[in-house]
Amino acid sequence: MRTLRTKVAVVGAGPAGLFLAHELRAHGVDSVIVERCTREHVERRVRAGLLEEGTVRLLRGSGLADRLDRQCLVHDGFQLRFETTSQRISTAALIGEPTYIYGQQEVVKDLLAARPPGGDSLYFGAQDVRLAGIAGASPSVAFTTGGEQVVVEADFIAGCDGYHGVSRASIPPAALTFHSRRYPFNWIGLLVSAAPFAPELVYSVHPRGFALQSMRTPEISRLYLQTDGRDELSDWPESRIWDELAQRLYVDVSRTRERGAILEQVRVPLRSTVAEPMQFGRLFLVGDAAHIFPPTAAKGLNVALEDASALADALVTWYRRGEDGPLEGYSATRLRAVWRAQDFSAWLTWLFHPAADATPFDHRRRIASLTRLAEGGSSAIAFADEYVGRSRRRPPSRPHLTAPRIHELDGMEG
Ligand SMILES: Cc1cc2nc3c(=O)[nH]c(=O)nc-3n(C[C@H](O)[C@H](O)[C@H](O)COP(=O)(O)OP(=O)(O)OC[C@H]3O[C@@H](n4cnc5c(N)ncnc54)[C@H](O)[C@@H]3O)c2cc1C
Repeated sequence: MRTLRTKVAVVGAGPAGLFLAHELRAHGVDSVIVERCTREHVERRVRAGLLEEGTVRLLRGSGLADRLDRQCLVHDGFQLRFETTSQRISTAALIGEPTYIYGQQEVVKDLLAARPPGGDSLYFGAQDVRLAGIAGASPSVAFTTGGEQVVVEADFIAGCDGYHGVSRASIPPAALTFHSRRYPFNWIGLLVSAAPFAPELVYSVHPRGFALQSMRTPEISRLYLQTDGRDELSDWPESRIWDELAQRLYVDVSRTRERGAILEQVRVPLRSTVAEPMQFGRLFLVGDAAHIFPPTAAKGLNVALEDASALADALVTWYRRGEDGPLEGYSATRLRAVWRAQDFSAWLTWLFHPAADATPFDHRRRIASLTRLAEGGSSAIAFADEYVGRSRRRPPSRPHLTAPRIHELDGMEG
């Protein structure tokens, strides 16, 4: 058995774990990352692709955005289609902020490339990862690699191991409230080797269901289709997928279909989860380990990197100045942002997805909401604020309600 000693043991080398370790290293705080999958797998995992302004600023501020700035697609807005109308909503015109298209796997590659060469502080292919001592002052992470048992002793553990990881599962159930909502539909996601048929994202709300055209590069399209939660992938042969995309997106997708091969097809379950609090003892939950967003509003990666940045700041403050206030406040601070993003994601998911049991009243209400958005004005500004994530960057301002004094109540007659 081999024993290592570090300040922060990071479980998971997804974007959250890698970014956290990068920020800690930049401030002289050493860490060891333990990752279950291989490097090739982690670098090739195609998932998110829409980055908010705040995320791009974080990456630029950390010297991680050279390639991003050269290769990303900057989108000033998107198309919203419903009831055969197509309306462009420009977040740049509404609030002065665009969104950025740059694949999550590219962010991961940039984070890995930025690591100093030859370091042995990142273990890929770790098996049987277990956490111990998280309630006390000497937590540790044990795992097996190449047949050898390794134990990483640390001051803190950062659980960045996603929804199915061991970190959240290591917290005693009584110490955690786990909020979970499963939506009654899934998405089929396609990665297609063809140029997108429209230069910006197209969200289409169709009576047959929702569809989204997105992209990863000028040559690679990402297409999504709402399906019933009970459907299997076998219910969706390629011909049916293309037919539905054509109808729901109001386009002739045959050119895309002719030009492009399907590189990947995935089923994406739509769910919202939040684990509260995002801390237990010396274990801090970061990113998908603490929360999952339905992909409708593209918040997962963005909020995960925000969590990692906030935890890095709090840990650096602890090591530099011995102050534990920011660490103690990590969960409460992040949960405010997480619930804000959950609220928007759940609302957008309702707005975009006609439910199988929707009544005509529900339908008319949905169209009224979409129309309000498409008309611009204050609704569209508030929407853009949440869509690009600017609202989460503002410090919270919650005026305190003061109870009316007795003499004020006295004068009030029922
Ligand atoms: C199809 C799809 C599309 C998406 N689109 C968007 C989008 O457009 N915009 C957006 O913002 N978000 C999107 N998301 C969500 C986004 O991908 C996630 O929120 C993001 O990956 C979270 O990063 P993370 O580092 O917290 O977790 P992950 O990326 O899940 O990383 C966790 C890491 O931990 C490792 N791990 C797991 N278990 C263990 C273990 N026991 N021991 C050690 N390591 C372990 C995993 O292998 C993985 O490398 C999408 C997700 C999916 C699935």
